[in-house]
Order: sequence, then structure tokens, then C-alpha cells
Amino acid sequence: MKNSILILGGTTEARLLAEVLAQNSRFATTLSLAGRTRTPIAMPVPVRTGGFGGPAGLAAYLNDHGIDLLIDATHPYAAKISANAAEASRLSGVPLVALRRQGWSEQQGDRWTPVESVAAAVTALGKTPRRAFLALGRQELLPFEQAPQHSYVIRSVDPVEPPLTVPSAQYMTARGPFRESDELALLSDHGIDAIVSKNSGGSASYGKIVAARKLGIEVIMIRRPVLPQVTSFESVDAVLSHLDQIFPAERGE
Ligand code: NAP
Repeated sequence: MKNSILILGGTTEARLLAEVLAQNSRFATTLSLAGRTRTPIAMPVPVRTGGFGGPAGLAAYLNDHGIDLLIDATHPYAAKISANAAEASRLSGVPLVALRRQGWSEQQGDRWTPVESVAAAVTALGKTPRRAFLALGRQELLPFEQAPQHSYVIRSVDPVEPPLTVPSAQYMTARGPFRESDELALLSDHGIDAIVSKNSGGSASYGKIVAARKLGIEVIMIRRPVLPQVTSFESVDAVLSHLDQIFPAERGE
């Protein structure tokens, strides 16, 4: 009998974990995506897409599909689905572990301004016109319409449609990883004097943080949301070791 695993994904780590599990005949793995990205990357395991309808819906899915383990490998800012996962695990009795990458910490030379939310980031930009680089998802940009005095350079995975109502915004679509040298060029070429960023952790989007340090640019850093306390691992390898412990290979496997 295979061990059924449901990975809540939407991150590079979720895909990398699925890639390893796809090679292992002990596991039947399904990856769940919210369906936000219009052109998601091909996945190595079967994918289901869209919300479950809250914790009760997720709990019903876990029971109906005979899931043995739920892995929350969602983005650290996707707080709702992580809370839902914890509640669904409690309701269904299906164990839950989380894969959560560590956040970045401020280094010497960084000029970080910590804020609690996107709205607070807008306020932190101030009244004087600035040239701000927004590395945020398309769903998070609306609050910047309240600060039309700034010029924005906006990079997102999907196009920002409709565009913001601000008079000066330049859009680019790109998917990480981003190289530090490219980020340095981007920030310099556009004369950026502030970056608004989430503390995503990992290396794929760290290039802009290092580039900002080198150029002395302020980074308005949106704090991570509070997530439920569950058994957590910081790397794909650590999750795989845990799986080996809880689902030991049978003799001869
Ligand atoms: P969220 O606010 O925590 O979740 C909102 C709702 O979307 C959830 O209640 C759930 O709907 C549904 N949902 C979220 N993730 C899902 C998943 N993996 N599978 C099925 N349904 C899911 O999350 P979000 O900030 O909108 O993020 C959505 C997805 O994008 C996540 O999977 C996350 O890993 C990824 N992502 C997020 C960010 C970010 O900064 N937030 C960045 C990169 C990637 P129901 O309640 O109906 O089940």
C-alpha cells in the first residue's frame, strides 16, 4: 500500500519536494495549487487546483482521498491556507507537517524599514515622490493607488490587469530566480530609491536585497504573518528525512 501525501504548494520547495516523491514508489503524491498563476510550471505529480472551501472542505478532501499526511509547503505569506491546514488536520485526524523556509535577517549595510502590511508599506514610502520598485504579487498592489505621487517599477509573475490608476508605473513580468547582477542593473537603470518586499527567504529573490545593500537603497520589508505552530522543517531534505522516519521502507524496498 502506498502512502498518500497531499502537498499544499505554490512554492519552489513544494515542486522540488514533489519531484523527489514522484521518484519514490512508496508514495502517491498529489500537489494542490490555489490557481493564482495563469501559466503554472509543469509539475512532476498529479495536480489539483482551486480552494477547498475552508478548513472543513480541506478536512473532507483528506478523508475522502485517504490522505495519510498533509504537507503545508505554501508561501510564508499565505497565512489563510496555513491556518486552514492546521484546522483541517485537527478535524480529520490526518497529521500535518509544514515546510517553511527561514526568513532573511538584516545584515550590516542593509537599510530595512519593517512594516506590518502592504498598506503600511505605502505609508512608509512617505509624501515626497520616490521611485519605488515593487516586488509583489498582482493581488497586493491596489493599496499603492493611494500614493500616486511616486513612480513605480512593478515586477510580477502575471501581468497586472487592469493596471494601477497611478500616473507613473512601469510593469514587467518575470519569474525568479533573479541574479544579483541583474538586480543591480535593474535598480540602477531605473534610479530606484526604495524597494517594497516581502521577507520571502530563500535564494531565488534575495538578489534584490543584496543589490539594495550595495546601492544603499531602503527596503521597506513587510513582516511575515503569524502562522500556526505545527511540526515544521526548513528544507526539502529535512521533510524527506521525516518521511523516512514516519513511513519506513519495507524490507526489500
Ligand atoms: P491564502 O491567502 O493563504 O489563501 C487564500 C485561499 O486560497 C485559501 O483559503 C484557500 O481557499 C486557497 N488556497 C491557497 N493556497 C492553496 C493551495 N495550495 N491549494 C488549494 N487552495 C489554496 O494564500 P494566497 O496568499 O492567496 O496564496 C495562494 C497560493 O500562492 C499559495 O499556495 C501560496 O503558496 C502561493 N504563493 C503565495 C505568495 C504570497 O505572497 N502570498 C507568494 C508566492 C506563492 P479555500 O479556503 O477555499 O480552501
